[in-house]
Amino acid sequence: MNLSQSDIRQNFQNVLEKIRFHAEKVGRKPDEIKLVAVTKTHPIEVVRAAYEIGMRVFGENYAQELRDKAKNMPEDVQWHFIGRIQTNKLKYVVPVAEYIHSVYRIEEMEEIEKLAVRFGKIQKVLIEVNVSNEETKGGLRPEEIRQFIKECSSYKNVNVVGLMTMAPFIEPEDTRPYFRKLFELREELRNDYPEIKELSMGMTNDFTVAVEEGSTMVRIGTAIFGEREYTKA
Ligand SMILES: *Cc1c(COP(=O)(O)O)cnc(C)c1O
Repeated sequence: MNLSQSDIRQNFQNVLEKIRFHAEKVGRKPDEIKLVAVTKTHPIEVVRAAYEIGMRVFGENYAQELRDKAKNMPEDVQWHFIGRIQTNKLKYVVPVAEYIHSVYRIEEMEEIEKLAVRFGKIQKVLIEVNVSNEETKGGLRPEEIRQFIKECSSYKNVNVVGLMTMAPFIEPEDTRPYFRKLFELREELRNDYPEIKELSMGMTNDFTVAVEEGSTMVRIGTAIFGEREYTKA
């Protein structure tokens, strides 16, 4: 069931308030943190309702769904692609996504570069890192990142601007070491790659911890839009 617009507004404000509280708790400025509202599986009516409330930054996981929603929404929406990448579907993503959060294969980079050249844009990407070393998870192992960035350095239309991770689904407080690890990885890289600034970490379960550990982009669905239904394939 879709939430009403007033529920979405209330939830959105609650999330913003929590971001502010946990940022200030550790001496950070709340406006350093971008709230990406994750609308995957929710119909376009929900995205419109969110837009009317004032939300402009949305995250999607599925390439065609992103393409279709982008087509039906105003130009001033900033789209983030946060899902598993299928190389043959990047053609739907690159024309509309301001950021692609989840890149970790060189074939993906190569295809993004090709498409970015074709569409005449500089594509901002984040590298997904598997800090928890879970087998089912995508992402590079921390020790692979530098080599990967080196291999990407010939791509002129791809701009690597940050790192992304997903913590295991555990007690929020227990996610802290994983976020701290991603923060440290970025600090190490930054000396050589000053454009690597963003840390995309934190979801409904754990964003308050992620904000305390330096997140610059939280990706939040359930806390704003309610539980998702996966009925329509
Ligand atoms: C679905 C998804 C989210 C949002 O998850 P919630 O728990 O609903 O906030 C964030 N990041 C990624 C990569 C996702 O797939």
